[in-house]
Amino acid sequence: MTGDGLPPLREVIAEHGLSARKALGQNFLLDLNLTRKIARRAGDLSACDVLEVGPGPGGLTRALLSEGARRVVAIERDPRCLPALEQIAAAYPGRLEIVQGDALRIDAEALLTRPVRVVANLPYNVGTELLVRWLTPDSWPPYWASLTLMFQREVAQRIVAAPGSKAYGRLAVLAQWRTEPRLAFDLPPQAFTPPPKVTSSVVHLEALPAPRHPADPDRLQRVVAAAFGQRRKMLRASLKGLAPDIVARLESLGIDPTARAETLDLEAFCRLARAL
Ligand code: SAM
Repeated sequence: MTGDGLPPLREVIAEHGLSARKALGQNFLLDLNLTRKIARRAGDLSACDVLEVGPGPGGLTRALLSEGARRVVAIERDPRCLPALEQIAAAYPGRLEIVQGDALRIDAEALLTRPVRVVANLPYNVGTELLVRWLTPDSWPPYWASLTLMFQREVAQRIVAAPGSKAYGRLAVLAQWRTEPRLAFDLPPQAFTPPPKVTSSVVHLEALPAPRHPADPDRLQRVVAAAFGQRRKMLRASLKGLAPDIVARLESLGIDPTARAETLDLEAFCRLARAL
């Protein structure tokens, strides 16, 4: 038994036959000290609902509950994980709600009471898509106060990257526009079962009360997608599709038409989104 009275995660996995499935991006965290470290990085959970996406066998779920989350809503796609998660729900009566399904198709907001913190160790592609959705609702602030997410290190670096660096792009602009993103810590491949090929990083993003600069999220997304879709081209070429008179428009906004997307800061992207 462990501190929470539940069996060690290796036993849980063996008992329920949870062999990791590659198609679902399953790399499990079995060390409860590590999962508690992630839960603590999310901040004070005692007055919060926590949305956990992809709980798997429940290592992080258990940590969120033992660290005092008021309530955890956990969305898991793999039905094989449900019996293990039900055991956790029984150990923490009334505090864990398990939802089986694809997090990309579920309206999580409707299941939660504010304040909400989101915590997840997700497959890379699902995590990036959810992150962009969490960052781009029409109105701000969003229903969540913070996101604490595991990514491949290379993706985490793209979220916190500064202009001028190779990692700077769509994720940096969208994340830094409306949140304060911070790299929290790295986890080596051996922390997971089975180990992935690359190092992972936990990123913590606190929602800002208001975006740093005004802009419409759809327009900003379109400008950023066009600019970084052809990141080696000059802006006058990469943004031509957004306005036929792009050179004159860029000049009137005080932006050099021969500059490349990676040199533009957040404020300039927001200026572009407001004008184009
Ligand atoms: N949180 C667990 C941990 O840290 O050990 C599991 C992490 S594992 C990297 C990712 C989990 O996300 C798996 O349990 C997988 O089944 C689940 N998953 C994958 N795609 C999903 C989706 N679209 N919606 C919900 N869960 C998903």
